[in-house]
This record gives sequence, structure tokens and C-alpha cells, in this order.
Amino acid sequence: MSKSHEPDGLKPETRLVTAGRSAAEFHGFVNPPVYHASTVLYPNAADLVAHRSRYQYGRRGTPTSEALENALREIEGPGCAGVSLLPSGAAAVSTALLSVLSAGDHLLITDSVYRPTRNFADTILKRYGVETTYYDPLIGDGIASLFRPNTRAVFVEAPGSQSFEMQDIPAIARAAHDRGALVLMDNTWATPLFFRAFEHGVDLSIQAGTKYIGGHSDIMFGTISANEKALPKLKDTVTTFGLCVGPDDIYLALRGLRTLSVRLERHQKSALEIAQWFEQRPEVLRVLHPALPSHPGHAIWKRDFTGASGLFSIVLKPTAEKAVHAFCDALSLFGMGFSWGGYESLVILFDCAGYRTATKWAPGGPCLRFHIGLEDTGDLIADLERGFAAMKA
Ligand SMILES: *Cc1c(COP(=O)(O)O)cnc(C)c1O
Repeated sequence: MSKSHEPDGLKPETRLVTAGRSAAEFHGFVNPPVYHASTVLYPNAADLVAHRSRYQYGRRGTPTSEALENALREIEGPGCAGVSLLPSGAAAVSTALLSVLSAGDHLLITDSVYRPTRNFADTILKRYGVETTYYDPLIGDGIASLFRPNTRAVFVEAPGSQSFEMQDIPAIARAAHDRGALVLMDNTWATPLFFRAFEHGVDLSIQAGTKYIGGHSDIMFGTISANEKALPKLKDTVTTFGLCVGPDDIYLALRGLRTLSVRLERHQKSALEIAQWFEQRPEVLRVLHPALPSHPGHAIWKRDFTGASGLFSIVLKPTAEKAVHAFCDALSLFGMGFSWGGYESLVILFDCAGYRTATKWAPGGPCLRFHIGLEDTGDLIADLERGFAAMKA
């Protein structure tokens, strides 16, 4: 699936199997036990007073949370110094931002960002004295002109949430680092398997683990991976906020992680097949999928990414809202609901026009976002054909 990035020559697919495992520690069992824990008992008063123990308290880490953090660190590869687990992807975004920002700082965020990230910047960060400027996702090294003396961080997300613009992350990272700012990325779409954040200049890489790591639509959880420079403040922030994830969810995330590459490979293949099918449909104006040569960000995707996951959007030719609803309502294999990254296919209607501030969203027709699950693509296409028939009727 992808070339090896590891100094010891192991490919990412192998890493997913070996990472973070230590059977010897767990009596030979392949997987770590689920430690339900708050108190950790110390053997004597001297050790208690000195906090001399591998584990201090449930919130601060257990063998279960450590196994997942270590696995994720190994999968991120060179450049990643450590990982923190958060109770949701949204918590990972807000915690990563809070770990690098202080009152009086300035922040740059791509206009194509996941909407709750924007909301966090516009409400809580604003209230705490951090000013945000949104920028055109296609800005590239032109971002240099937006920096101020107090610009502390740049937030990137590629492809853009719902709208799928590709960003020139190495160019943005160079501009940021030249001016002493850190780069935060939401890498949920690609995961570290398809985008090596740290090799492209990212300092803090965020994932909604809820999506592909979990993979089964049954857990909420988030991850932040950090390089050497960003890790100490990240760990301090997570600890000071008292954030931790329940052990059963950590266990499910670790279980999901082991099959990430086979699932992603199938999501990628099926999504590309269906995206190409949409390109041939007379009802469709444009397909927003960066792995398609027709996508304006295709060259960047090809240069920087090693794969594409199962999420993409389409723009329909101008059609009445009722007809778009009829399309969605006629689908039986595509559920309608938020989130994605599970084994099942999904569809949502979306419109970015209401909240963009740095760019204009005028796609030319109604928009739908699809997550292509692990079903047979022939069955999915037959379902979509029924949708188009209902749209026409
Ligand atoms: C879903 C999502 C999040 C938030 O994750 P939750 O676990 O739902 O809080 C963040 N970023 C992106 C790109 C997402 O798709």
C-alpha cells in the first residue's frame, strides 16, 4: 500500500500490528488488559511521598492507555515525540490549541476548517484574548503576508472539511516556522497512514479517533501527536485540564487500530470507484475528491499524500431542494447522520456558504458528502441509482 518510512525498514502495515505491544508484560497475552483504575497503591510511605511508581493515578495513565499512546507514536513515525488521548476529536482540537496559545496571541485558521474548530476559536479563544484570522485554504506560501508579530500558530486541515480543498502544508509550515509559529493539523481524513504529518512540517497532529481509528461508529475519542518542541506543553495542558479517556474506549480504539490499513485500503478503493461513477452521471456538476485528476488539488495530493480515505463530496447540478431530499430519502444503504469513518456508508447534505469568512462558497449547486463504507460497491451504486431515479420523479 505505501512505502516504508521507518528507520528500521518496517512498513506502516506491519507497524499497525506490532506497535505498542508487549506480550511479555501481560503474561503472554496478545492484547493488554483493560485497567479500570483510579487509585494506585504505593508499597510504602517513602515511595508515596516521592511519587515513586511507574503509574501514579488512573487519570495520569494506565498500561491500557500507554499501550495505545505508544502504538500511535510508533505509527506516526519519526518526528513524533509523544501522543495524548482525548475524550473526543473536538476535545483534541481545543486542547491542542490551548496548549500553544496564550492571551494576546494571534492564530491563523484555514477557512475550510471543521466547523466546531471554528466555533471554538470564535467563542472560547476569543473570550480568552486570542484573535483568529481565517485564510484561504489555497493560500500556500502567500500566508506569509498574514503573520503578525504575535502570530503563534497556524491551523491547517487537508482536505477541507466537506469542501475538500487541498493545502500546501509544507509551504505553510515553512512560512510559520520562519516566523516562530507552530503548525497544528487536523489529520482525521488521511490518518498517519496516508499523510505523514511530521515529515511535512506539522508540529501537532490531531485526529478524531472517533472516525477511522475506532472504525465501528461506537466510540468517541481523539488523539494529539506532538513533536519534541510541542510535547511538553501538550502533556502539561492535558494533565492540568484533567482530561482522560475511559479504559473500555481506549481498548476499542486499540482494537480498531490493528485493522486500520485493511479498512482504509477498502474505503479508498470503493470511494474512488464511486467518485468516478459520480463523475459520469448527468446529474452531477463536480466531484470533490482529491485523488481524482479533475480535482484542483490533485497535484498536491499526489505529491504529499500516499492514499485517500472514504470521504468525499459531490456538487449536483442546480436542483430543487425537494428533489435532493428525495434522493437521500430513497437510499437504503447510505445512512443519514453525522460523523464518518465507520464500516457503513453515510450521506449528508451540506452548505458552507453560511459560515465562511475568508472565501466565498459558491459551488454552483446543492452539495452532498458521502462516506463510502465496506459494502459491495455494486450494491452501493444500485442504491445511488435508486436515489437518482427518485430525484427525477
Ligand atoms: C469528526 C471530526 C472532528 C471531531 O471529532 P469528534 O470525535 O466527533 O469530536 C474533528 N475534526 C474532523 C475533521 C472531524 O471530521
